[in-house]
Amino acid sequence: MTKKILIIGAGIAGLSAGVHACRNGYDVEIYEQHNLPGGLCTAWKRKGFTFDGCIHWLVGTKKGSQFNRLWSEICDMGSMTFYDREIFMSIEGDDDNKINIYSDLDRLEAHLIEKAPADGAAIKKMTGAAKELSKTEYPLEKPEELYKFWDMPLMLIKMLPMLKIMGQFSRVSIRDYLGEHFTSSYLKEALGLVMPTGYSMVGLLSTLASLHIKDAGFPGGGSLEFARAIEKQFLDLGGKINYSAKVVEITTESNRAAGLLLEDGTKVFGDLVISAADLYSTVYGLLKGRYRSAKIDESFAHLPLYSSAQVSLGLDCDLSEEPEGLALKLDQPITLGNEHNRYIYLNNYAFDPSLAPNGKSVLAATLYSSYEHWQPAAEESEKRYREKKESLANRVIEIVEQRFPAAKGKIEVVDVATPVTYTRYTGVYKGAYMSWIIPPEAGRFSIPKQLPGLDNFYQVGQWVAPPAGLPGSMLTGRQVVQVICSKDKKPFSTG
Ligand SMILES: Cc1cc2nc3c(=O)[nH]c(=O)nc-3n(C[C@H](O)[C@H](O)[C@H](O)COP(=O)(O)OP(=O)(O)OC[C@H]3O[C@@H](n4cnc5c(N)ncnc54)[C@H](O)[C@@H]3O)c2cc1C
Repeated sequence: MTKKILIIGAGIAGLSAGVHACRNGYDVEIYEQHNLPGGLCTAWKRKGFTFDGCIHWLVGTKKGSQFNRLWSEICDMGSMTFYDREIFMSIEGDDDNKINIYSDLDRLEAHLIEKAPADGAAIKKMTGAAKELSKTEYPLEKPEELYKFWDMPLMLIKMLPMLKIMGQFSRVSIRDYLGEHFTSSYLKEALGLVMPTGYSMVGLLSTLASLHIKDAGFPGGGSLEFARAIEKQFLDLGGKINYSAKVVEITTESNRAAGLLLEDGTKVFGDLVISAADLYSTVYGLLKGRYRSAKIDESFAHLPLYSSAQVSLGLDCDLSEEPEGLALKLDQPITLGNEHNRYIYLNNYAFDPSLAPNGKSVLAATLYSSYEHWQPAAEESEKRYREKKESLANRVIEIVEQRFPAAKGKIEVVDVATPVTYTRYTGVYKGAYMSWIIPPEAGRFSIPKQLPGLDNFYQVGQWVAPPAGLPGSMLTGRQVVQVICSKDKKPFSTG
Protein backbone atom coordinates (compact mmCIF):
# COMPACT_ATOMS: atom_id res chain seq x y z
CA MET A 1 0.00 0.00 0.00
CA THR A 2 1.25 3.51 -0.79
CA LYS A 3 2.59 5.23 2.31
CA LYS A 4 1.13 8.60 3.22
CA ILE A 5 3.63 11.31 4.19
CA LEU A 6 2.49 14.49 5.94
CA ILE A 7 4.86 17.45 5.62
CA ILE A 8 4.63 20.54 7.82
CA GLY A 9 5.70 23.67 5.94
CA ALA A 10 6.01 24.64 2.28
CA GLY A 11 9.37 26.36 2.64
CA ILE A 12 12.22 25.21 0.42
CA ALA A 13 13.00 22.14 2.57
CA GLY A 14 9.34 21.05 2.72
CA LEU A 15 8.83 21.53 -1.01
CA SER A 16 12.05 19.67 -1.78
CA ALA A 17 11.05 16.73 0.45
CA GLY A 18 7.61 16.85 -1.18
CA VAL A 19 8.90 16.68 -4.76
CA HIS A 20 11.32 13.84 -3.99
CA ALA A 21 8.74 11.89 -1.99
CA CYS A 22 6.10 12.19 -4.76
CA ARG A 23 8.58 11.13 -7.40
CA ASN A 24 9.46 8.09 -5.34
CA GLY A 25 5.89 6.90 -5.15
CA TYR A 26 4.65 8.28 -1.82
CA ASP A 27 1.31 9.95 -1.28
CA VAL A 28 2.27 13.41 0.00
CA GLU A 29 0.37 16.28 1.57
CA ILE A 30 1.95 19.52 2.76
CA TYR A 31 0.32 21.65 5.47
CA GLU A 32 1.44 25.29 5.31
CA GLN A 33 0.23 27.95 7.73
CA HIS A 34 0.57 30.75 5.19
CA ASN A 35 -1.24 31.15 1.88
CA LEU A 36 2.00 31.03 -0.14
CA PRO A 37 4.91 28.66 -0.71
CA GLY A 38 8.53 29.55 0.05
CA GLY A 39 8.68 30.32 3.77
CA LEU A 40 11.72 32.58 4.24
CA CYS A 41 12.33 32.41 0.49
CA THR A 42 9.80 35.09 -0.23
CA ALA A 43 8.96 38.47 -1.72
CA TRP A 44 6.01 40.83 -1.43
CA LYS A 45 4.34 43.30 -3.77
CA ARG A 46 3.60 46.92 -2.86
CA LYS A 47 2.00 49.30 -5.38
CA GLY A 48 3.59 47.66 -8.42
CA PHE A 49 7.01 47.10 -6.78
CA THR A 50 8.25 43.66 -5.77
CA PHE A 51 10.33 43.72 -2.60
CA ASP A 52 12.50 40.65 -2.29
CA GLY A 53 12.93 39.37 1.25
CA CYS A 54 15.48 36.66 0.67
CA ILE A 55 17.85 35.77 -2.14
CA HIS A 56 21.01 37.79 -2.45
CA TRP A 57 22.77 34.89 -4.10
CA LEU A 58 21.51 31.44 -4.92
CA VAL A 59 24.17 28.76 -5.23
CA GLY A 60 23.40 26.51 -8.19
CA THR A 61 22.45 28.92 -10.96
CA LYS A 62 25.11 27.81 -13.45
CA LYS A 63 23.86 25.14 -15.83
CA GLY A 64 25.45 21.81 -14.99
CA SER A 65 27.03 22.80 -11.65
CA GLN A 66 26.58 20.44 -8.72
CA PHE A 67 23.82 22.45 -7.06
CA ASN A 68 22.25 23.28 -10.40
CA ARG A 69 21.80 19.55 -10.97
CA LEU A 70 20.26 19.21 -7.51
CA TRP A 71 17.87 22.15 -8.03
CA SER A 72 16.96 20.76 -11.46
CA GLU A 73 15.63 17.65 -9.77
CA ILE A 74 12.93 19.75 -8.10
CA CYS A 75 12.21 22.59 -10.54
CA ASP A 76 12.71 23.62 -14.12
CA MET A 77 15.95 25.62 -13.78
CA GLY A 78 16.31 25.70 -17.57
CA SER A 79 13.26 27.91 -17.99
CA MET A 80 14.45 30.54 -15.50
CA THR A 81 16.59 33.62 -16.03
CA PHE A 82 19.44 34.18 -13.59
CA TYR A 83 21.26 37.45 -13.14
CA ASP A 84 24.97 37.42 -12.28
CA ARG A 85 26.87 40.40 -11.02
CA GLU A 86 30.15 41.54 -12.46
CA ILE A 87 30.82 43.36 -9.20
CA PHE A 88 29.26 41.46 -6.34
CA MET A 89 29.70 44.33 -3.91
CA SER A 90 31.10 47.83 -4.13
CA ILE A 91 32.42 48.97 -0.79
CA GLU A 92 32.52 52.68 -0.15
CA GLY A 93 34.48 53.52 2.97
CA ASP A 94 36.08 56.63 4.43
CA ASP A 95 37.81 59.25 2.28
CA ASP A 96 36.58 57.95 -1.05
CA ASN A 97 38.24 54.63 -0.26
CA LYS A 98 36.51 52.14 -2.56
CA ILE A 99 36.95 48.43 -3.03
CA ASN A 100 35.09 46.28 -5.50
CA ILE A 101 34.45 42.63 -4.81
CA TYR A 102 34.61 41.45 -8.42
CA SER A 103 33.02 38.11 -9.13
CA ASP A 104 35.90 37.16 -11.40
CA LEU A 105 38.72 36.02 -9.12
CA ASP A 106 41.58 37.16 -11.37
CA ARG A 107 40.11 40.61 -11.54
CA LEU A 108 39.47 40.60 -7.80
CA GLU A 109 43.02 39.50 -7.09
CA ALA A 110 44.56 42.24 -9.26
CA HIS A 111 42.24 44.88 -7.78
CA LEU A 112 42.94 43.92 -4.17
CA ILE A 113 46.71 43.79 -4.74
CA GLU A 114 46.54 47.26 -6.26
CA LYS A 115 44.70 48.47 -3.14
CA ALA A 116 46.93 46.71 -0.62
CA PRO A 117 50.23 45.57 -2.22
CA ALA A 118 51.70 44.52 1.13
CA ASP A 119 48.97 41.88 1.41
CA GLY A 120 49.71 40.44 -2.03
CA ALA A 121 50.69 36.99 -0.75
CA ALA A 122 47.62 36.68 1.50
CA ILE A 123 45.35 37.87 -1.32
CA LYS A 124 46.79 35.32 -3.73
CA LYS A 125 46.43 32.57 -1.19
CA MET A 126 42.76 33.47 -0.69
CA THR A 127 41.85 33.80 -4.37
CA GLY A 128 43.90 30.69 -5.19
CA ALA A 129 41.98 28.64 -2.64
CA ALA A 130 38.66 29.99 -3.95
CA LYS A 131 39.70 29.01 -7.49
CA GLU A 132 40.50 25.50 -6.31
CA LEU A 133 37.13 25.24 -4.60
CA SER A 134 35.36 26.42 -7.75
CA LYS A 135 36.63 23.26 -9.50
CA THR A 136 35.55 20.77 -6.85
CA GLU A 137 32.32 19.07 -5.89
CA TYR A 138 31.19 18.00 -2.43
CA PRO A 139 30.23 14.36 -1.81
CA LEU A 140 26.49 15.06 -1.52
CA GLU A 141 24.94 12.18 -3.39
CA LYS A 142 24.29 10.16 -0.26
CA PRO A 143 23.19 11.43 3.17
CA GLU A 144 25.41 10.63 6.14
CA GLU A 145 22.67 8.42 7.59
CA LEU A 146 23.21 5.96 4.73
CA TYR A 147 27.00 5.82 4.84
CA LYS A 148 28.50 2.36 5.08
CA PHE A 149 32.03 1.96 6.39
CA TRP A 150 33.38 1.57 2.83
CA ASP A 151 31.88 4.92 1.85
CA MET A 152 34.34 6.79 4.07
CA PRO A 153 37.47 6.06 2.01
CA LEU A 154 35.50 6.80 -1.17
CA MET A 155 34.36 10.09 0.29
CA LEU A 156 37.90 10.99 1.28
CA ILE A 157 39.12 10.26 -2.25
CA LYS A 158 36.40 12.49 -3.67
CA MET A 159 37.31 15.23 -1.22
CA LEU A 160 41.05 14.93 -1.82
CA PRO A 161 41.33 18.09 -3.95
CA MET A 162 39.71 20.13 -1.21
CA LEU A 163 41.26 18.50 1.86
CA LYS A 164 44.19 20.92 1.93
CA ILE A 165 41.84 23.90 1.73
CA MET A 166 39.57 22.46 4.40
CA GLY A 167 42.60 21.86 6.62
CA GLN A 168 43.72 25.47 6.28
CA PHE A 169 40.43 27.34 6.29
CA SER A 170 37.55 25.36 7.76
CA ARG A 171 38.32 25.73 11.47
CA VAL A 172 38.89 29.46 11.50
CA SER A 173 36.31 32.22 11.34
CA ILE A 174 36.42 34.87 8.62
CA ARG A 175 37.05 37.44 11.35
CA ASP A 176 40.05 35.62 12.81
CA TYR A 177 41.53 34.62 9.47
CA LEU A 178 41.44 38.16 8.10
CA GLY A 179 42.80 39.49 11.39
CA GLU A 180 45.75 37.11 11.36
CA HIS A 181 46.70 37.08 7.67
CA PHE A 182 46.02 40.56 6.33
CA THR A 183 47.72 43.79 7.38
CA SER A 184 45.67 46.45 5.59
CA SER A 185 42.93 47.39 8.01
CA TYR A 186 40.72 48.63 5.18
CA LEU A 187 41.09 45.38 3.26
CA LYS A 188 40.23 43.38 6.37
CA GLU A 189 37.17 45.53 6.89
CA ALA A 190 36.11 45.26 3.23
CA LEU A 191 36.49 41.49 2.95
CA GLY A 192 34.64 41.14 6.24
CA LEU A 193 31.61 42.77 4.64
CA VAL A 194 30.98 40.05 2.05
CA MET A 195 29.24 37.87 4.59
CA PRO A 196 28.91 37.67 8.39
CA THR A 197 32.37 37.20 9.84
CA GLY A 198 31.39 34.58 12.42
CA TYR A 199 31.17 31.96 9.67
CA SER A 200 34.06 29.74 8.73
CA MET A 201 36.57 31.10 6.22
CA VAL A 202 35.48 28.26 3.93
CA GLY A 203 32.10 30.01 3.70
CA LEU A 204 33.75 33.13 2.26
CA LEU A 205 35.94 31.08 -0.10
CA SER A 206 32.97 29.02 -1.32
CA THR A 207 30.98 32.17 -1.99
CA LEU A 208 33.85 33.73 -3.95
CA ALA A 209 34.24 30.41 -5.80
CA SER A 210 30.54 30.28 -6.76
CA LEU A 211 30.56 33.91 -7.90
CA HIS A 212 33.68 33.26 -10.00
CA ILE A 213 32.01 30.51 -12.03
CA LYS A 214 28.68 32.39 -12.22
CA ASP A 215 26.98 29.84 -10.02
CA ALA A 216 25.56 32.30 -7.50
CA GLY A 217 23.02 34.41 -9.38
CA PHE A 218 19.64 35.95 -8.64
CA PRO A 219 16.54 34.30 -10.11
CA GLY A 220 14.52 36.61 -12.37
CA GLY A 221 11.24 37.55 -10.70
CA GLY A 222 12.77 36.99 -7.26
CA SER A 223 12.58 34.56 -4.37
CA LEU A 224 8.84 33.90 -4.38
CA GLU A 225 8.84 33.06 -8.09
CA PHE A 226 11.67 30.64 -7.44
CA ALA A 227 9.68 28.93 -4.67
CA ARG A 228 6.64 28.83 -6.96
CA ALA A 229 8.67 26.93 -9.56
CA ILE A 230 9.29 24.17 -6.99
CA GLU A 231 5.65 24.27 -5.89
CA LYS A 232 4.67 23.74 -9.54
CA GLN A 233 6.86 20.63 -9.80
CA PHE A 234 5.33 19.25 -6.60
CA LEU A 235 1.78 19.80 -7.83
CA ASP A 236 2.61 18.41 -11.29
CA LEU A 237 3.82 15.22 -9.61
CA GLY A 238 0.49 14.84 -7.82
CA GLY A 239 1.38 16.34 -4.44
CA LYS A 240 -1.21 18.28 -2.49
CA ILE A 241 -0.66 21.51 -0.56
CA ASN A 242 -3.08 22.77 2.05
CA TYR A 243 -2.55 26.49 2.56
CA SER A 244 -3.73 28.48 5.58
CA ALA A 245 -3.41 25.18 7.45
CA LYS A 246 -1.47 25.82 10.64
CA VAL A 247 -0.35 22.72 12.50
CA VAL A 248 -0.66 23.07 16.29
CA GLU A 249 0.37 19.58 17.35
CA ILE A 250 2.09 16.49 16.01
CA THR A 251 -0.01 13.67 17.39
CA THR A 252 1.72 10.54 18.61
CA GLU A 253 0.71 7.01 19.48
CA SER A 254 3.10 4.83 21.50
CA ASN A 255 6.00 7.16 20.64
CA ARG A 256 5.27 7.11 16.91
CA ALA A 257 4.21 10.19 14.99
CA ALA A 258 0.66 9.43 13.90
CA GLY A 259 -0.66 12.63 12.40
CA LEU A 260 -1.28 16.34 12.75
CA LEU A 261 -3.75 18.48 14.60
CA LEU A 262 -4.56 21.66 12.71
CA GLU A 263 -5.53 25.00 14.26
CA ASP A 264 -9.12 24.63 13.04
CA GLY A 265 -9.43 21.34 14.95
CA THR A 266 -9.01 19.04 11.93
CA LYS A 267 -7.02 15.87 12.60
CA VAL A 268 -5.09 14.22 9.78
CA PHE A 269 -3.29 10.90 9.84
CA GLY A 270 -0.33 9.51 7.93
CA ASP A 271 2.37 6.87 8.01
CA LEU A 272 5.21 9.36 8.36
CA VAL A 273 5.47 12.99 9.46
CA ILE A 274 8.20 15.29 8.18
CA SER A 275 8.51 18.65 9.87
CA ALA A 276 9.96 21.26 7.54
CA ALA A 277 8.84 23.94 9.98
CA ASP A 278 11.21 25.75 12.33
CA LEU A 279 13.05 23.32 14.63
CA TYR A 280 12.39 25.26 17.85
CA SER A 281 8.65 25.46 17.30
CA THR A 282 8.54 21.81 16.20
CA VAL A 283 10.42 20.42 19.19
CA TYR A 284 9.17 22.68 21.97
CA GLY A 285 5.76 23.56 20.48
CA LEU A 286 4.29 20.92 18.18
CA LEU A 287 5.89 18.07 20.16
CA LYS A 288 5.66 19.84 23.54
CA GLY A 289 9.31 19.20 24.37
CA ARG A 290 8.82 15.45 24.79
CA TYR A 291 11.41 14.26 22.28
CA ARG A 292 14.20 16.83 22.58
CA SER A 293 17.88 16.04 22.71
CA ALA A 294 20.58 17.65 24.83
CA LYS A 295 22.20 18.85 21.60
CA ILE A 296 19.06 20.72 20.56
CA ASP A 297 18.60 22.22 24.03
CA GLU A 298 22.22 23.32 24.21
CA SER A 299 22.29 24.68 20.68
CA PHE A 300 19.26 26.90 21.25
CA ALA A 301 20.64 27.98 24.62
CA HIS A 302 24.16 28.85 23.52
CA LEU A 303 24.71 29.19 19.77
CA PRO A 304 24.54 32.65 18.22
CA LEU A 305 22.28 33.66 15.32
CA TYR A 306 22.20 36.44 12.78
CA SER A 307 19.06 38.30 11.91
CA SER A 308 18.48 41.45 9.94
CA ALA A 309 16.12 44.33 9.24
CA GLN A 310 15.35 45.39 5.69
CA VAL A 311 14.03 48.75 4.52
CA SER A 312 12.72 48.42 0.95
CA LEU A 313 12.07 51.49 -1.18
CA GLY A 314 10.07 51.81 -4.38
CA LEU A 315 11.57 54.75 -6.30
CA ASP A 316 10.26 56.78 -9.18
CA CYS A 317 13.69 57.02 -10.80
CA ASP A 318 16.03 54.84 -12.80
CA LEU A 319 19.04 53.50 -10.86
CA SER A 320 20.28 51.16 -13.58
CA GLU A 321 23.62 53.01 -13.82
CA GLU A 322 24.27 52.67 -10.08
CA PRO A 323 26.08 49.75 -8.35
CA GLU A 324 23.96 46.64 -7.83
CA GLY A 325 25.37 45.78 -4.43
CA LEU A 326 26.77 48.51 -2.24
CA ALA A 327 28.19 48.52 1.27
CA LEU A 328 28.28 52.12 2.40
CA LYS A 329 30.17 53.31 5.46
CA LEU A 330 27.98 55.32 7.80
CA ASP A 331 29.00 58.59 9.44
CA GLN A 332 27.25 57.38 12.58
CA PRO A 333 26.74 53.66 13.19
CA ILE A 334 23.17 52.42 13.35
CA THR A 335 22.69 50.30 16.44
CA LEU A 336 19.84 47.81 16.38
CA GLY A 337 19.96 45.88 19.64
CA ASN A 338 23.40 44.38 20.04
CA GLU A 339 24.31 44.88 16.39
CA HIS A 340 26.36 48.00 15.66
CA ASN A 341 26.17 48.62 11.93
CA ARG A 342 29.09 50.67 10.70
CA TYR A 343 28.05 49.93 7.12
CA ILE A 344 24.69 49.72 5.45
CA TYR A 345 24.07 47.25 2.61
CA LEU A 346 22.13 48.63 -0.35
CA ASN A 347 20.78 46.25 -2.96
CA ASN A 348 19.77 47.89 -6.18
CA TYR A 349 17.45 45.57 -8.11
CA ALA A 350 17.48 47.59 -11.35
CA PHE A 351 19.08 44.57 -13.10
CA ASP A 352 15.72 42.73 -12.95
CA PRO A 353 13.13 44.85 -14.75
CA SER A 354 10.29 42.60 -13.60
CA LEU A 355 10.57 43.94 -10.05
CA ALA A 356 9.54 47.55 -10.70
CA PRO A 357 7.30 49.44 -13.13
CA ASN A 358 9.02 50.82 -16.21
CA GLY A 359 11.59 53.52 -15.39
CA LYS A 360 11.29 52.92 -11.65
CA SER A 361 13.57 51.08 -9.23
CA VAL A 362 13.65 48.99 -6.09
CA LEU A 363 16.37 49.65 -3.55
CA ALA A 364 16.62 47.60 -0.36
CA ALA A 365 18.76 48.47 2.65
CA THR A 366 19.83 45.69 4.99
CA LEU A 367 21.20 46.05 8.49
CA TYR A 368 22.08 43.45 11.07
CA SER A 369 19.64 43.58 13.91
CA SER A 370 18.89 41.46 16.93
CA TYR A 371 15.38 40.12 17.38
CA GLU A 372 15.33 41.60 20.88
CA HIS A 373 15.58 45.11 19.45
CA TRP A 374 12.07 44.81 17.99
CA GLN A 375 10.25 42.15 19.94
CA PRO A 376 9.35 44.16 23.10
CA ALA A 377 7.94 47.04 21.00
CA ALA A 378 5.98 44.61 18.81
CA GLU A 379 4.58 42.98 21.93
CA GLU A 380 3.74 46.31 23.58
CA SER A 381 1.60 47.64 20.72
CA GLU A 382 1.43 47.84 16.95
CA LYS A 383 1.71 51.63 17.28
CA ARG A 384 5.00 51.44 19.21
CA TYR A 385 6.38 48.86 16.75
CA ARG A 386 5.34 50.99 13.76
CA GLU A 387 7.02 54.07 15.26
CA LYS A 388 10.25 52.15 15.67
CA LYS A 389 10.07 50.95 12.09
CA GLU A 390 9.38 54.49 10.85
CA SER A 391 12.34 55.82 12.76
CA LEU A 392 14.66 53.33 11.03
CA ALA A 393 13.05 54.00 7.64
CA ASN A 394 13.61 57.76 8.04
CA ARG A 395 17.26 57.25 8.85
CA VAL A 396 17.70 54.96 5.83
CA ILE A 397 15.90 57.40 3.51
CA GLU A 398 18.28 60.16 4.61
CA ILE A 399 21.28 57.97 3.75
CA VAL A 400 19.80 56.85 0.41
CA GLU A 401 18.93 60.40 -0.69
CA GLN A 402 22.43 61.56 0.18
CA ARG A 403 24.10 58.73 -1.76
CA PHE A 404 21.65 58.76 -4.69
CA PRO A 405 20.58 62.37 -5.27
CA ALA A 406 18.28 61.14 -8.09
CA ALA A 407 16.17 59.44 -5.41
CA LYS A 408 15.45 62.67 -3.52
CA GLY A 409 11.71 63.24 -3.39
CA LYS A 410 11.12 60.19 -5.58
CA ILE A 411 10.32 57.63 -2.93
CA GLU A 412 6.88 56.19 -3.64
CA VAL A 413 6.78 53.23 -1.28
CA VAL A 414 8.55 52.41 1.99
CA ASP A 415 8.41 48.99 3.61
CA VAL A 416 10.22 47.77 6.72
CA ALA A 417 10.70 44.09 7.57
CA THR A 418 12.32 43.22 10.90
CA PRO A 419 13.33 39.91 12.49
CA VAL A 420 9.86 39.98 14.11
CA THR A 421 8.30 40.16 10.62
CA TYR A 422 10.13 36.98 9.61
CA THR A 423 9.07 35.22 12.80
CA ARG A 424 5.43 36.29 12.43
CA TYR A 425 5.42 35.18 8.83
CA THR A 426 7.21 31.82 9.05
CA GLY A 427 7.57 31.00 12.75
CA VAL A 428 11.36 31.10 12.42
CA TYR A 429 13.16 31.27 15.76
CA LYS A 430 14.16 34.88 16.55
CA GLY A 431 13.99 35.90 12.89
CA ALA A 432 17.19 33.97 12.17
CA TYR A 433 18.06 33.97 8.51
CA MET A 434 20.43 31.03 8.34
CA SER A 435 19.94 29.08 11.57
CA TRP A 436 22.85 29.06 14.05
CA ILE A 437 26.36 30.28 13.45
CA ILE A 438 28.49 27.30 14.30
CA PRO A 439 31.89 28.29 15.73
CA PRO A 440 34.33 27.04 13.06
CA GLU A 441 36.54 25.37 15.64
CA ALA A 442 33.62 23.07 16.51
CA GLY A 443 34.04 21.33 13.13
CA ARG A 444 31.22 19.54 11.35
CA PHE A 445 27.86 20.13 12.98
CA SER A 446 24.43 18.78 12.24
CA ILE A 447 21.27 17.89 14.12
CA PRO A 448 20.02 14.33 13.53
CA LYS A 449 16.88 14.31 11.41
CA GLN A 450 15.22 11.90 13.83
CA LEU A 451 14.40 12.84 17.41
CA PRO A 452 15.27 10.53 20.30
CA GLY A 453 12.41 8.21 21.20
CA LEU A 454 10.07 9.19 18.36
CA ASP A 455 9.47 6.92 15.38
CA ASN A 456 7.95 7.77 12.01
CA PHE A 457 9.11 11.37 12.33
CA TYR A 458 11.81 13.37 10.54
CA GLN A 459 12.98 16.97 10.80
CA VAL A 460 14.37 18.80 7.77
CA GLY A 461 15.28 22.39 6.97
CA GLN A 462 17.94 24.94 7.77
CA TRP A 463 18.34 24.02 11.45
CA VAL A 464 19.46 20.44 10.88
CA ALA A 465 22.36 21.44 8.61
CA PRO A 466 23.62 24.89 9.67
CA PRO A 467 24.22 27.32 8.10
CA ALA A 468 22.21 25.66 5.30
CA GLY A 469 20.72 28.61 3.40
CA LEU A 470 18.62 27.65 0.40
CA PRO A 471 20.88 24.92 -1.07
CA GLY A 472 21.42 23.27 2.31
CA SER A 473 17.71 23.37 3.19
CA MET A 474 16.82 21.89 -0.20
CA LEU A 475 19.39 19.14 0.34
CA THR A 476 17.90 18.09 3.69
CA GLY A 477 14.56 17.53 1.94
CA ARG A 478 16.25 15.29 -0.63
CA GLN A 479 18.24 13.41 2.01
CA VAL A 480 15.24 12.55 4.14
CA VAL A 481 13.52 10.92 1.19
CA GLN A 482 16.70 8.96 0.45
CA VAL A 483 16.60 7.68 4.04
CA ILE A 484 12.90 6.82 3.81
CA CYS A 485 13.40 4.98 0.50
CA SER A 486 16.30 3.06 1.97
CA LYS A 487 14.20 1.99 4.98
CA ASP A 488 11.47 0.89 2.58
CA LYS A 489 14.09 -0.99 0.53
CA LYS A 490 13.31 1.04 -2.58
CA PRO A 491 15.86 2.61 -4.93
CA PHE A 492 15.87 6.41 -4.70
CA SER A 493 14.87 7.95 -8.01
CA THR A 494 15.52 11.52 -9.12
CA GLY A 495 13.36 11.32 -12.20
C1 LIG B 1 16.70 38.13 4.82
C2 LIG B 1 17.16 36.77 4.39
C3 LIG B 1 18.08 36.66 3.38
C4 LIG B 1 18.53 35.40 2.98
N1 LIG B 1 19.38 35.33 1.93
C5 LIG B 1 19.76 34.12 1.47
C6 LIG B 1 20.54 34.02 0.30
O1 LIG B 1 20.89 35.02 -0.33
N2 LIG B 1 20.92 32.77 -0.12
C7 LIG B 1 20.56 31.64 0.56
O2 LIG B 1 20.94 30.54 0.13
N3 LIG B 1 19.80 31.72 1.68
C8 LIG B 1 19.38 32.92 2.13
N4 LIG B 1 18.61 33.02 3.24
C9 LIG B 1 18.34 31.78 4.03
C10 LIG B 1 17.22 30.94 3.46
O3 LIG B 1 16.14 31.75 3.12
C11 LIG B 1 16.79 29.91 4.50
O4 LIG B 1 17.92 29.23 4.99
C12 LIG B 1 15.83 28.89 3.91
O5 LIG B 1 14.82 29.52 3.16
C13 LIG B 1 15.23 28.04 5.02
O6 LIG B 1 14.27 27.17 4.46
P1 LIG B 1 13.48 26.14 5.34
O7 LIG B 1 12.57 25.40 4.41
O8 LIG B 1 14.39 25.38 6.21
O9 LIG B 1 12.61 27.01 6.39
P2 LIG B 1 11.48 28.11 6.22
O10 LIG B 1 11.70 28.94 5.03
O11 LIG B 1 11.43 28.79 7.56
O12 LIG B 1 10.14 27.29 5.99
C14 LIG B 1 9.35 26.81 7.04
C15 LIG B 1 7.91 26.80 6.53
O13 LIG B 1 7.10 26.16 7.52
C16 LIG B 1 5.92 26.91 7.71
N5 LIG B 1 5.45 26.63 9.07
C17 LIG B 1 6.10 26.92 10.23
N6 LIG B 1 5.37 26.50 11.29
C18 LIG B 1 4.24 25.94 10.77
C19 LIG B 1 3.10 25.33 11.35
N7 LIG B 1 2.97 25.23 12.69
N8 LIG B 1 2.13 24.85 10.54
C20 LIG B 1 2.24 24.96 9.18
N9 LIG B 1 3.30 25.54 8.58
C21 LIG B 1 4.29 26.01 9.36
C22 LIG B 1 6.36 28.34 7.52
O14 LIG B 1 5.27 29.20 7.26
C23 LIG B 1 7.33 28.19 6.35
O15 LIG B 1 6.65 28.26 5.12
C24 LIG B 1 18.09 34.25 3.64
C25 LIG B 1 17.15 34.36 4.65
C26 LIG B 1 16.66 35.60 5.01
C27 LIG B 1 15.61 35.70 6.06
